[in-house]
Amino acid sequence: MMTKVRDEINATGFVFDGEVLDNPAPITSTKAQQTPLILFRWKNRVCDICTNAFDISQQGIFYRCGGCIV
Ligand SMILES: [Zn+2]
Repeated sequence: MMTKVRDEINATGFVFDGEVLDNPAPITSTKAQQTPLILFRWKNRVCDICTNAFDISQQGIFYRCGGCIV
């Protein structure tokens, strides 16, 4: 993994399991774009379509929840 990416992950202060950051508060795509290197590293996200929170390790893709990717 690139050092810059690792630095950004460490800067969040959240637990990183090698795949995703365990952020307690779901993050929006708008907020996540402020740190583009780790855009797809957040575990808990807000769906761009329906605005419901979802866990990317359980469902969905990018910033769309499981109910909005059909
Ligand atoms: Zn959705």
